[in-house]
Amino acid sequence: MTNPRSKIVLITGASSGIGAATARRLAAADGHHVVLGARRVDRLAALVVDLRLAGGTAEYRQLDVTSRDSVNAFVEGAHDRYGRIDVLINNAGVMALSTVDALRTDEWEQMIDVNLRGTLHGVAAALPLMRARGTGHIINIGSSAAYRVDPTAAVYCATKYAVRALTEGLRQESRDVRVTLVSPGYTHSELTEHGGDPQIQAAARAAAEELGMPAVAVADAIACAIAQPDTVDINEIIMRSTAQG
Ligand code: NDP
Repeated sequence: MTNPRSKIVLITGASSGIGAATARRLAAADGHHVVLGARRVDRLAALVVDLRLAGGTAEYRQLDVTSRDSVNAFVEGAHDRYGRIDVLINNAGVMALSTVDALRTDEWEQMIDVNLRGTLHGVAAALPLMRARGTGHIINIGSSAAYRVDPTAAVYCATKYAVRALTEGLRQESRDVRVTLVSPGYTHSELTEHGGDPQIQAAARAAAEELGMPAVAVADAIACAIAQPDTVDINEIIMRSTAQG
């Protein structure tokens, strides 16, 4: 970390998709030190090797955002090591699509636990540390699903509407810590590969492949929010590919 403007940036859900692309962008192009968390540590370990070979500084820790203890250990571990946390990106998410009457209640719980509760765990762990320093930046990953409900996405949308409300409320309360919501539309990632009704997930996968943005586009938007002066907060970024419209 020879760059004096280098920040300590924690990213949840960094083992694939938007999180991994953001780690690459922030470590390589911006010279930030990234601390990566997710459950699949083999993925994180390989990414950290790549980032270091490219001249970046990075480390990882196994993280399950549904566990408050795990999130606390992730955030406090980085804080103990570096004496500060500049940015927390609450990115971990799951999307298991199905109609409500299919009553896939375990998947409802999982989406609530990862997308909403996981974000709350991140805020609870990082906010007091940032407040104590009088500076910091919390970036929550929303979605275009935080603005519009589609059939088969009711519960996913509910979690993202909630993340949007939480982010806006926290921003309104905050004078020292910056708070940003980044809401992408379809993005190339592994989001449609886990859970949900198989037919509905396959249709979503096809739509994302055809109409989606590369994950690096979202990473670039996140980097732009971080790069603003400490006194400037980008409140919200909504972005879609031109193909999605
Ligand atoms: P991916 O499936 O590629 O990435 C999701 C990440 O979340 C993975 O790294 C996964 O890691 C992690 N994750 C899932 N569950 C947990 C958990 N319990 N604890 C810790 N990490 C977890 O999808 P995306 O990159 O697309 O998703 C990133 C964010 O972007 C999500 O919040 C998603 O809702 C949002 N988003 C995505 C869009 C898209 O079209 N792709 C559009 C709008 C928003 P692991 O399994 O190793 O734990």
